[in-house]
Amino acid sequence: MSYTAWIISIGNELLIGKTVNTNASWLARKLTLLGYDVRRIITVPDSEEDEVEVFRDAIKRGIRVVISTGGLGPTFDDRTSEYLAKALNRKYVINDEALRLVVETFKSRGLELTEPRLKQAKMPEGAKPLPNPVGTAPGIWVEEGNTIIIALPGVPAEMMAIFENYVEPRLREMGPRLHFVEKSITVKGVPEADLAPIIEKGMKMSNRIYIKSHPKGHEIRAPLVEVHVYVSSEDIKSAEDEINRVLNFLISAIREKGGEVLSA
Ligand code: ATP
Ligand code: MG
Repeated sequence: MSYTAWIISIGNELLIGKTVNTNASWLARKLTLLGYDVRRIITVPDSEEDEVEVFRDAIKRGIRVVISTGGLGPTFDDRTSEYLAKALNRKYVINDEALRLVVETFKSRGLELTEPRLKQAKMPEGAKPLPNPVGTAPGIWVEEGNTIIIALPGVPAEMMAIFENYVEPRLREMGPRLHFVEKSITVKGVPEADLAPIIEKGMKMSNRIYIKSHPKGHEIRAPLVEVHVYVSSEDIKSAEDEINRVLNFLISAIREKGGEVLSA
């Protein structure tokens, strides 16, 4: 079983640089910590052609978990649910469970049931709605072949609440049961280019570990680089041992180059 994941960010506001895509980085971190292998983060406009294409592509490739955000609201351009139905070649229908959720939400808030609001109960045939504890549009959980597609609203608080309450527990249960362990050191006085061969040697010490440098200071005047080491492993102990072994090598090699390791 592969545990690949894609994150699909939907919205014109992301592509014109108005909104920073915090949803994608938040979800990427969550999925990674659950042991999933996030292979792509794709941003598409509120457009039928682009949305249908990206959902179909994920299904065709058998990506295990696909999470989209955005376009579930009541406005005219919020059409993710409809396009998802099209990508799945399924009917776009009123979902009884979603209708109950939507009606309940509006009643409890004293809001009128209008046509745009009812639209939020329409989903691809065979989908399961995910209750929205913060807003009105339910999330969508739908499966096709080996792929699970989860569509969440774009508003970060709603996306996070649905994910943490109704998605994360399920993904953890069916997931790879890997532990993600990470450590960082901050290196002063060695430019990134001189760290590169050390990092390359460190990477060769283990085939599960990944090491990435993140420059923070001024590369020439005052080089300051965070070196981030991470590994996914079946048990925490062996992951930590592996990280420590590689870190010890990195630290001594950096000191040999005259660098200072600020935090370990
Ligand atoms: P709602 O059901 O509340 O209408 P929606 O699914 O329609 O939500 P959008 O209309 O796509 O969501 O986005 C609502 C707002 O959420 C945007 O104006 C933007 O501020 C924010 N938002 C959307 N996508 C993202 C994202 N990827 N990262 C951070 N914020 C986002
Ligand atoms: Mg919208």
